[in-house]
Amino acid sequence: MFTSSVPPAYVELAGHYSWMFVLLSILIACLSSYTALSLNERVRKNGFFHQSVWLVLASLAMGFGIWSMHFIGMSAFSLPVAMHFSHLWTFVSVIPAILASFLAFTLASRSTQSFLSFALSGVAMGVGIASMHYTGMASMVMDAVYRYNIWLFLSSIAIAIVVSFIALYIFSNLKQLMEKRIVKIITALIMGLAISSMHYTGMAAVTFYASPDSILRDHASHTDMTMLIVPVAVGMFFLLGVLLFSSIMDRYIDYRISYFDGLTRLPNRRQFEKMLNKPAASRGLAIWHFHNLEKINNGYGYACGDQVIQRIADELREAHPGFKELYRIEGNRFAFLSEETEPDLFQKAMETIALKWKEPLLLEEKWIELSSVCAVSFSKGADPHHQLYANALAVLEHPLLKYEHDIILYDSTIHTFSFEQEILNGLARAMSEDELFLVYQPKIFADTSRLNGFEALIRWRHPVHGMLSPAVFIPILEQNHRIDDVTDWVIDRAARQISQWEKSGLPGQKIAVNIPGTYITSARLTASLEKAITHHRVDPKQLELEITETSVVQSAESAIRAISSFRKQGFSVALDDFGTGVSSLSFLRQMPITTLKIDKSFVDRVPHSEKDSAILHAIITLGQSLNLNIVIEGVETADQVRFLVTTARSLTVQGYYYARPMTADEIAKWRLDFSETLREDYLFS
Ligand code: C2E
Ligand code: MG
Ligand code: MG
Repeated sequence: MFTSSVPPAYVELAGHYSWMFVLLSILIACLSSYTALSLNERVRKNGFFHQSVWLVLASLAMGFGIWSMHFIGMSAFSLPVAMHFSHLWTFVSVIPAILASFLAFTLASRSTQSFLSFALSGVAMGVGIASMHYTGMASMVMDAVYRYNIWLFLSSIAIAIVVSFIALYIFSNLKQLMEKRIVKIITALIMGLAISSMHYTGMAAVTFYASPDSILRDHASHTDMTMLIVPVAVGMFFLLGVLLFSSIMDRYIDYRISYFDGLTRLPNRRQFEKMLNKPAASRGLAIWHFHNLEKINNGYGYACGDQVIQRIADELREAHPGFKELYRIEGNRFAFLSEETEPDLFQKAMETIALKWKEPLLLEEKWIELSSVCAVSFSKGADPHHQLYANALAVLEHPLLKYEHDIILYDSTIHTFSFEQEILNGLARAMSEDELFLVYQPKIFADTSRLNGFEALIRWRHPVHGMLSPAVFIPILEQNHRIDDVTDWVIDRAARQISQWEKSGLPGQKIAVNIPGTYITSARLTASLEKAITHHRVDPKQLELEITETSVVQSAESAIRAISSFRKQGFSVALDDFGTGVSSLSFLRQMPITTLKIDKSFVDRVPHSEKDSAILHAIITLGQSLNLNIVIEGVETADQVRFLVTTARSLTVQGYYYARPMTADEIAKWRLDFSETLREDYLFS
């Protein structure tokens, strides 16, 4: 086609563009790209429809967009010869565009991406656009022949690939920014330009020739084209409109599900917290708590329970005092939140509501008695956001609370802080004033009774509640997202201890620290470890990270990546409490850990229970076959140690049998006793 001979009598044809249609074609390319990007966004969101539905729709929008851009672009160009499109080829030409879009979007939306995957998606998209264009060219039937200029032809393909690559790269790397409409619009413009510039460069590469006899005086074909362009453009706008609308609907459904309660259609807890976190000069909050809903559910069934809740919601909505927003914040709790802070107004409004609950509700010939209470609290701008809610909760958690439809205003002298709040409020003080401290439990090689490092365990000497076990306060810190601060503190103290031991005659010791939840995958952990080892000049080999199965199972892939990177930096990583979680053997094989800590429950009935002994033996064998160091936790008796020594070699034991967790001072003393006098007593072999 580049060198095809042109009959000598043929003359070169001068075509011309209708600029209005050229602009229309570019507009369609950009709009389709915008729609495809919006649909693609849904792939990443956990929307109502499955992700692949959005991938297919995005590919359709893009594919048809490329196709109609091309079609209108072709029609915008008129030649003074008779021409029409072959229906079959016109139809076939849309296929490469859709397939290429699908391939490109699939590659670009993968969670793990490399430069290669972008390059591949750019090539897929570029080649798709180009092959659509040249298949489309083949669908033109006319009284003329054409020849390509090879350089322009190749550059049209190169343009398509390069600009698609840039657009997809921006699209994948600025995912967070896509929420900002302007970034999405710019990306759509670049993509639209990729499609159009390929087309028009491709057109510039062709020269048309025709016999002078077949040249038409008037451009009749152009009028025909207008007849074609209008339905294609209208159809395309309609298709894009429907697709864009579906993505907006999906976003809306997603929003409804996330922020509204399905049963009562009231805004839910999330929405409530969002509002609570917004700054406000002053606020008032009233929480209605219904005490006997569970009883109603048990007595009359859940359907009836649902009706009662709906009825309560309706009544509250109806009574809705103009100045308050209503939320369903828990199954049995509704909240009014407002900028109004006039206690009398609140009191009156709530008393009117309370009158309703004093009468039993009539539901399908059943009289239902409600028992409720309403907690009211107010806050000023200077109070922390959560204070308002915490105070209302303190009212509801008061031990003498009755459910007789009273309206109770928070009073700091009566409604003292709940235990949970006391823990949270005291945390910063506890860290700075050494109420929190670490104890260290030795880990001992069972074969030789030599020391194999320590585990750092946290304690809280609380001014009011006395010595607190981590089992009491760690869950509270975890639930309230404060555990990361404490973990950083533990890491710092453990590193400091290693460096002190280094100077005071216990060199080369390892300390293991517990890393909670998904913190293992957090960038903050990397920074905190880095800081601790440089500040205290500690070798990373001396720090071990203990993670739990449950935290790893949540996002196995990223955990594997994080663990590998910590291993590369020299830290060792242990899997704590093995056997209490849900991990599988294949999972264990994939985890690049160094150590397996077998949970106490596996050793408790050993050696008396044959079954338990066999299971423990099997787990040890499995762990050792994977080249893992094995630590048995919670070993308390000589029988258990004897069993372990005879079962396998090189086991490490941690438990009260050897030593309880001790402070650094106690360790100094214990170490002397242990190494000089007692160690022999522990040897079994
Ligand atoms: P863990 O990491 O599995 O720690 C082992 C627990 O077993 C410790 O309890 C230890 O005192 C106890 N233990 C050790 N040997 C024996 C024994 O022979 N018999 C019995 N009955 N218990 C034994 P502790 O210190 O109360 O810690 C409980 C859990 O709290 C830890 O379990 C860990 O999950 C968490 N924890 C402790 N310190 C920290 C910390 O600094 N950060 C985080 N995130 N969690 C911590
Ligand atoms: Mg541990
Ligand atoms: Mg453990």
